[in-house]
Amino acid sequence: MGGTILRTENLVKTFGGLRAVDGVSIKVDERTLTLIIGPNGSGKSTLINVITGFLKADSGRVLFKGEDITNMPPNEVYRQGIVRTFQTPQLLKSLTVLENMLIANVHPGEGVISALRKSQWLETEEEYVERAWELLKFLKLDHLWDRPAGSLSGGQMKLLEIGRALMTEPELIVMDEPVAGVAPSLAHDILQKLVSLKEQGITVLLIEHRLDIVLGYVDHLYVMFNGKVLTEGKGRVGIERVVNDPRVAEIYMGG
Ligand code: ADP
Ligand code: MG
Repeated sequence: MGGTILRTENLVKTFGGLRAVDGVSIKVDERTLTLIIGPNGSGKSTLINVITGFLKADSGRVLFKGEDITNMPPNEVYRQGIVRTFQTPQLLKSLTVLENMLIANVHPGEGVISALRKSQWLETEEEYVERAWELLKFLKLDHLWDRPAGSLSGGQMKLLEIGRALMTEPELIVMDEPVAGVAPSLAHDILQKLVSLKEQGITVLLIEHRLDIVLGYVDHLYVMFNGKVLTEGKGRVGIERVVNDPRVAEIYMGG
């Protein structure tokens, strides 16, 4: 386990009078799988939207590898090495699985590929295709490479969304409920794949609202409620303490 790759300090995000994120300080260590749980409406999605630049913080700071990235626009945050996935996969449904992988690195307004000279373009394209194939194999989607993304099952779309995120060679991948609505056996597959990303030097920050399915894969657990961190724990013992905390059961009963 390395140092801290991401931290927030007293982050606040309000919507009108509602403090959706109310002074949140978290730390994500390098090459760990960090999980934030909490009932619906706890502020989890808002927190990662602020971290990844999709929403502006009212106050507080976001630090990535020690640098202040607070309120950078999403494409700047992405350039720093943070990629995120959404609760609903952001796929182009009429394009094939492989095409969806290949366009993952092209961001609106960047014109990355067109900016490159032709010879470099070919080299880069070859690399992209190779990387895309490797990832599709890793995700067991390679046999579907020429299918339209829109014809995939819900679970396969989630896998493709993860594949697209990995195409960008991120240092930190931030995922909003990657296994929500996915059948348990596939959910465990996905989580095992996320765990194996740690060996490739990738840090994973996950949001979930259910704990049962993800618990066995987690290094560091935060519980959010009403915009605040209610409790946290690291390692087997720390996580067990959180899970057995009666306040955690209580917020789930209430919701
Ligand atoms: P979670 O992801 O934990 O379910 P959210 O971050 O989506 O929670 O929401 C936290 C609170 O902020 C909720 O009360 C929600 O209704 C509110 N909220 C989220 N997004 C907006 C928005 N764009 N405008 C107004 N209120 C919002
Ligand atoms: Mg959410």
